[in-house]
Amino acid sequence: MKVNFIIWLSCILLLGHNSFAQIQSYPLSRVSLKSGPFKNAQDVDFRYIMQLNPDRLLAPYLIDAGLPLKAERYGNWENIGLDGHIAGHYLSALAMMYSSTRNKVLKKRLQYMISELERCQLKNGNGYVGGIPEGKIFWERINKGDIDGSSFGLNNTWVPLYNIHKLFKGLHDAHVYAGNDAAKNILIKLGDWFIQLIQPLSDEQIQKILKTEHGGINEAFADLYTLTKDKKYLNTAIRLSHLDILNPLIQKEDKLTGLHANTQIPKVIGFQKIGNLAKKDLWGDAAAFFWNTVTQTRSVSFGGNSVREHFNPANDFSKLLASPQGPETCNSYNMLRLSKALFEGTGDSKYLSYYERTLFNHILSSQHPKKGGFVYFTPIRPNHYRVYSQPHTSMWCCVGSGLENHTKYGELIYSFKNEDLYVNLFIASQLNWKEKNIKIDQNTDFPKSTQTEIRIDTRKPKKFIIHLRHPSWAKNYTVKINGMPYTEYINDNPEYISIDRTWQKKDHITINFMPTTSIERLPDGSNWGAFVHGPIVLAAKSSENELTGLFADDSRMGHEAKGKLYSIYNAHALVSDQNEYVTKLVPLSNQKFKLDSLVLEPFYQIHDSRYQMYFPLYTSKEYNDRNQELLRKEKAFLAKEAMTIDKINCGEQQPETDHSFKGEKSHNGYDDEVFWRNTQSYISYKLSNKNKKGNIIEISALDEIKIENISIFINQNEVTNLAIEKNKLTISMDDLPEEIQIKIQSKQNKFSPRFTEIRLSQIIR
Ligand SMILES: [Zn+2]
Repeated sequence: MKVNFIIWLSCILLLGHNSFAQIQSYPLSRVSLKSGPFKNAQDVDFRYIMQLNPDRLLAPYLIDAGLPLKAERYGNWENIGLDGHIAGHYLSALAMMYSSTRNKVLKKRLQYMISELERCQLKNGNGYVGGIPEGKIFWERINKGDIDGSSFGLNNTWVPLYNIHKLFKGLHDAHVYAGNDAAKNILIKLGDWFIQLIQPLSDEQIQKILKTEHGGINEAFADLYTLTKDKKYLNTAIRLSHLDILNPLIQKEDKLTGLHANTQIPKVIGFQKIGNLAKKDLWGDAAAFFWNTVTQTRSVSFGGNSVREHFNPANDFSKLLASPQGPETCNSYNMLRLSKALFEGTGDSKYLSYYERTLFNHILSSQHPKKGGFVYFTPIRPNHYRVYSQPHTSMWCCVGSGLENHTKYGELIYSFKNEDLYVNLFIASQLNWKEKNIKIDQNTDFPKSTQTEIRIDTRKPKKFIIHLRHPSWAKNYTVKINGMPYTEYINDNPEYISIDRTWQKKDHITINFMPTTSIERLPDGSNWGAFVHGPIVLAAKSSENELTGLFADDSRMGHEAKGKLYSIYNAHALVSDQNEYVTKLVPLSNQKFKLDSLVLEPFYQIHDSRYQMYFPLYTSKEYNDRNQELLRKEKAFLAKEAMTIDKINCGEQQPETDHSFKGEKSHNGYDDEVFWRNTQSYISYKLSNKNKKGNIIEISALDEIKIENISIFINQNEVTNLAIEKNKLTISMDDLPEEIQIKIQSKQNKFSPRFTEIRLSQIIR
């Protein structure tokens, strides 16, 4: 009886699942944006795209194929190991922007890029095409099973699978969004080459490769399966799925703390897709669990996550709050891709709520609305700021994903299921539902106005249901049809109002609503909160002083806002009873609010300025106690930072790359809320000793440092004069050169301690 009940229940659940399964998005080509902040972002992105030189982006591919160069490759991340990654994103951006705008200039440029890649593939002769430095030697080693991988280095090459995944996706998008058949041929040959390459490897060896960041390489093969229906691609997609991440998610365990965030999200997009294609329900459930965990317990108000690119403990956001390296834009780019897939798979509007929040606040704000340029980190540290890329200097990951972000705003404004139309987002746009001979115009100034108008253009009267999203943040939601109040709608799903009617040409629906305003605390429950008005996160401009590096140069860390850190202690605090914080806001015009001496406005409008988005919340009693404590900690931190010339956080991707990390038999990890790296052979970094002021190097570790187990070399000379006190090793040395190469060698293949930080400081003696 029990078994029967379970079978019966599963059938119901399955039916429930399937009844939503057909929600589909319109192709980008059917939705055009109308005047507003999103259309502006699209136009600005178009100009940025056109400023990039295709031949410079293609240069790494020509170099690897041994073909003469037409232009020098770009610098920055394009010539320090991640060579060619932007070209992959660029194909996607050209294809999607073409689909959204039908501008033939983009199509022509895309065709040129594809024909050049085809030339490289032909020259290579084995199906391979790529920009990875010394690619042929690198892949040969992998093919022979010679695999030494850590989180971002595979055989001392910077994330090669991540890099080539961008090309896989770019070729896929060129075919799917712009109908480029040559791209499909290149993609299939590249996929077949890759399958041959890994064919001799055991599953264990493949999992070893997957320890290194690899983008959505599993998704790439799932997409190849969708394109070709050839099962070998789906089997490869399954083989390329990283079990150390998948298995805990299947068990509904959140083991994300300390993991590099954007390494994981694309893997999960792959799990979701493979789950659907291979009918592996557990994989789909794992993806949904990941989404819940990240959005509900690990995201800040604007939808972003991570500090210094890694997931912080869900119960402690203090590091995220303090760091100039707040949430990374790539993470939200990928979280939106996952949200869209989950929404289409389930019809659950919670995915849309997150999508809307992140689109309006993180993604829209991550591009300079006048000059162009993309943001990498969005700090929530009070009174810090963000920096922007420039077309010819900045070749970061967030430039790659940034190029794509603003090409596809039309992807989820509307959806359909059979005959039904869903209006999901309040964005001014026109939908051309060709198959049904229906055009939908949405006219709105939202979020500036609190109204949207939907105009229906159908040649003949047509009966179908329009589902209008009724977000939970919208109060006093009223609907008028042709100017007359309408209340006969069906409201089965609390997040949609459904109107079943025979629509006539020129019918129009007017929706009015009032956004609610609330203060949202950080997920760790600490006393920090941000104001949210409707789906719009508010923040206050605080100062335009000391915006060092506002438009990034080509330095490795140009993407970090390295200007002065203003004391958190001086941040504007809210002191009152809990219920009174929101009532302190005085509405001004244009979505602005007065808060004491500050003016809050939509965060996406704030550029070229320091800002405060999160506010410490106190009762008056708490205020004095906590502030004293904060001041003490902050003073100690700032004093240490002020003496620091250069610093490496061992085991963290970006700081290590920026300090020319090299190593053998080296592992990294995260314990006791700190990152570490050890070695059984050696590790080395380069420190920059600006103006030769540094005179002390401190190496910190999680374990006790024993001199009998390690040797330290500075610019090849062994250091003998060191002081060790438990977990800290100190080298005092005058006349250090401008560039210091520091190498830590383990003795007799023993594991070194887990090093956490190497800091070069100036001590006045
Ligand atoms: Zn990024």
